Amino acid sequence: MTETVEEKLSIRTEKVEKSRLPEVDFENLPFGRVFSDHMFVADYKDNGWHDLRVVPYANISFSPAMSTLHYAQSIFEGMKAYKRADGGVYLFRPDENFNRMNISANRMCMPEIREEVFMDGLKELIKLDQGWVPGQEGSTLYIRPFMFAADDFIGVRPSDTYKFMIFTCPVASYYAEPVRVRIETDYTRAAKGGVGYAKTAGNYAASLYAARNAQKDGYHQVIWTDGAEHKYIEESGTMNLFFKIDGTLVTAALGDSVLNGITRKSIIQLAKDFGQPVEERRISVEEIDKALKEGRVEEAFGAGTAAVVSSIKTVGHQGTDYDLPPMVEGTFAYKVKETLHNIRMGKVEDKHQWMVKVN
Ligand SMILES: *Cc1c(COP(=O)(O)O)cnc(C)c1O
Repeated sequence: MTETVEEKLSIRTEKVEKSRLPEVDFENLPFGRVFSDHMFVADYKDNGWHDLRVVPYANISFSPAMSTLHYAQSIFEGMKAYKRADGGVYLFRPDENFNRMNISANRMCMPEIREEVFMDGLKELIKLDQGWVPGQEGSTLYIRPFMFAADDFIGVRPSDTYKFMIFTCPVASYYAEPVRVRIETDYTRAAKGGVGYAKTAGNYAASLYAARNAQKDGYHQVIWTDGAEHKYIEESGTMNLFFKIDGTLVTAALGDSVLNGITRKSIIQLAKDFGQPVEERRISVEEIDKALKEGRVEEAFGAGTAAVVSSIKTVGHQGTDYDLPPMVEGTFAYKVKETLHNIRMGKVEDKHQWMVKVN
C-alpha cells in the first residue's frame, strides 16, 4: 500500500483585540449583514493547502485581474451552528457540506479541500466565536464556507491558486412567510450537462432575472423546470421542492440540474422514519397542473438550510393561481420542520447521528 505523505497542517489563530459582540442586538438581527469576530482562511498554491489561519474578520484585497471576478470559479456552502440550552454548540451533518463542496470543486476544476482543512478550520472558528451562536429560540449562526480562484490572470483556464474561507453570521429565527411561486417555463436555471448540481456562484446570478420578473407579477419566486423542454419540475428558487399529492410526498430526482440539498435528504429520511410514503422521481408540470386543478395537492414547500421549510401558499401556472392549504399543525411540513428543530436542539433522539458537537 502506498501512502501519500502530506504536510501536517496546523491552524494558527490571531484573535481580535476587542470583540464586537457587545454591539450586536441579538433581538433584531438582519439576515447576512452582521459578521462575527473571526474568519478562517487557507491558501492553495503549489498543489497544496497552506497557511491555515483563524484571523479577525476583515476586508481582503486583490488584483482587478483576479480570475474569479471574470470567470466565476467560485463555490460555496451554507450551514448552521445551533446552541442548546446547556450551552453546547452543534453542527448539522457537516460531513455532507464537506462532501458537496468537493463535488462542486471537481465540477469547476478547482482543487479538493482536504477534510482536515474544512473540518478543523470550521470547528476552530466556531469554537472561538461560540459566543456569537445565538441562544434565542430559533436563532442560529449561519456559516458560509467558500472557495474562489485567486490567480491574477485573465486568460481562460483553471486558476493555479485559490482561497478557501469561512465566515459566520448570527441570524434570527427565520420566520418564512408562506410564499407565492410561479412555474417558470421561459428561463432556465440549470441544463443537462451544466453546473446546476454544483453550488457555484454563476447559478445564482443566472437565476435573478427570472425571479425578478416573477416578483414584478406579484410572486416571490419561480419553480424551475428542466432546461430542455420546461416540462419537468426541478426546484424552487434556491430550495429543493416537495409536494404532497394524494398522501404521497414527491420531490424531483437528483441529476445534474438539481442541487443535492442536505435538508432535502434529511426530510426524505424523516419521511421514511414517520412511515410517510415518499418518492424521488420525475414530476411533470402536467401532473402538477392536473393535481392543482383537482385540488389534490395537499402541501407544497421548499426545503433548504436558510428557512428549513418554506411553505408555498400559491402556485401560479399559465395565468391561474392555485391556493394551497396553510402549513398548520398536523401537516407533514409542520411536523418535519419541528422534528428537525428538535433534533438540532437535542430535544429528541438523534437516531441518525446527524449532530456534531463543536465546543
Ligand atoms: C443550497 C441549495 C439548496 C438547498 O440545500 P441545503 O443543503 O438543504 O441547504 C437547494 N437548491 C439550491 C439551488 C441550492 O443552492
